[in-house]
Amino acid sequence: MINQFKSALSVYRSIIVSILLFSAVINILMFVSPLYMLQLYDRVLHSRSEMTLIMLTLIAVGLLITYAVLEWVRSRVLVRAGLRFDDMISDGLFTRVITQTMQSPQSRSEFALSDIDRLREFLTGQGLIAICDLPWIPVFLAVCFYFHPIIGWIAVIGAAIIFALAIANEVMTKNLLNEASGYSQSATHFSNTTLRNVEVIRALGMENSLRSRWSIFHRDALETQALASDRAGVLLSTSKFVRMTLQILILGAGGYLAITNQISPGAIVAASIMMGRALQPVDQVVGQWKQFVGARAAYGRLKKMFDDVPGEVDRLELPKPSGRISVEQLAVVAPGTRTPLLQGVTFSLEPGEVLAVIGPSGAGKSSLIRSMVGVWPIVSGAIRLDGAELSHWKQNDLGAHLGYLPQDVELFAGSIAENISRFRDEVTPAEIIEAATISGVHQMIQALPDGYETQIGVGGGQLSGGQRQRVGLARAIFGKPSFVILDEPNANLDSEGEEALAKTVLELKAHGVSVVFVTHKISLVAVSDKVLILNAGKMQAFGPTKELLQPTQVTPPAGSVQVNQSENGPAKKAQG
Ligand code: ADP
Repeated sequence: MINQFKSALSVYRSIIVSILLFSAVINILMFVSPLYMLQLYDRVLHSRSEMTLIMLTLIAVGLLITYAVLEWVRSRVLVRAGLRFDDMISDGLFTRVITQTMQSPQSRSEFALSDIDRLREFLTGQGLIAICDLPWIPVFLAVCFYFHPIIGWIAVIGAAIIFALAIANEVMTKNLLNEASGYSQSATHFSNTTLRNVEVIRALGMENSLRSRWSIFHRDALETQALASDRAGVLLSTSKFVRMTLQILILGAGGYLAITNQISPGAIVAASIMMGRALQPVDQVVGQWKQFVGARAAYGRLKKMFDDVPGEVDRLELPKPSGRISVEQLAVVAPGTRTPLLQGVTFSLEPGEVLAVIGPSGAGKSSLIRSMVGVWPIVSGAIRLDGAELSHWKQNDLGAHLGYLPQDVELFAGSIAENISRFRDEVTPAEIIEAATISGVHQMIQALPDGYETQIGVGGGQLSGGQRQRVGLARAIFGKPSFVILDEPNANLDSEGEEALAKTVLELKAHGVSVVFVTHKISLVAVSDKVLILNAGKMQAFGPTKELLQPTQVTPPAGSVQVNQSENGPAKKAQG
């Protein structure tokens, strides 16, 4: 499996080599002003030659223009590299965020999506440049020693103090900042999940209690952050004081060395500029420390995610399945848990067969459905589509061959047409209308103010439960899947909707599509060829509908299904 993170980093490494080269030339050009200064004081002021002054100035300005151009090119290269880096990992990251959220909903994987920004900002900004400039500190310090050892030592000690302050800053604030970011993530996560249910919050008067829970996280984050800022503030002002004092000391020492004739007057200013250059990368690293720490943490999290969470495996593309399904000794657990919710389920369906899954609440019907669409892990046994295990299909290919209507129909922000076509790019209106027509929802959509272009918010706020379910059905059968799975498709439907649903199932059957649905209603069971009865995570019976069930003339109040007692024995063996 490709680890895009590793390949992106290795591409970035080669870019860093070129950035180091740019930085080398840029740092050499930093000698322009101190050299100019030396020439000015020690040569021009003595010779009083205007020509020399003009020539020196022209050369210096020419070199400074080169410097400016190189800096501009370096930052351009970095920004482009950042975009490429992002491009190389963002798709793989998105897939992994979805996989991890599905496997462990508590993992807060969505924050990985902002980690990529944090890391890219560091890699393309001043932080990385400061690191590339670090190897030049010894060179500038050596030049300070060249002027005079005293000047060299002042610069070395100065750099050491500033660096020590940076380390102290890191040590004293690291834990606090981590803690603060944990609290603030909790606050964001809490508010994001809470805001999805605003209506319940208002209606049940839960606002105060939820707000106080949110503000605990929020206040903890602020207080910890403030404590960290207090500590950092002391160190920041100390470091400013140290820097300014160093300038005074170096000028003072230069003055002393000049009046005792140990260095030239030009060297006083040149030495002060040199020390400034030597301290600049240290200063920058100190200034970028927080960003660096953030980027390092983001790097760690991203690396872990790419190492631990499998990305999309590059599988062979299998031909469109005919819709033959076999489930063998299936056992299923919920993601991140161990207790099997379903065990020993065995049955098979031929293309065009319709299976109704029935049983009391909590029997494991939805668990079966989730494993059949490939989103819940199978702990033992197998589910095969045309002989190939579900896990052998490319996830996206499988999705295209499969239609799924979950119990809670979530529609996505966009138009009804986009929702039906599963947000695919290349679709024709005819395909969308065909799916809507087969699922009997075309009339209903046309009656809406904007028809197929009606925009629906997150969760499909403007549609009723029944309307959402019917649009969800059209989405499930869009693209002529070979195999359609519906989890209580008639839970919110009126009699007209139910009738349309039964027609849809029969039409799918006529086209050779295999259909599996969970239901509590006899009217829908009547259109099935086979029935699977589940109870307490076990398969109670499987067989032809006509043999297994005896439809009652009058539907009982709960609308539930009557099991034919004489047939309600041990599970019939799966056939085919
Ligand atoms: P049904 O659809 O037949 O009502 P489900 O398949 O939804 O039943 O649930 C079967 C059992 O699995 C129930 O006991 C339920 O509590 C449990 N269950 C459902 N979802 C999860 C989950 N995400 N994690 C752990 N247990 C779950």
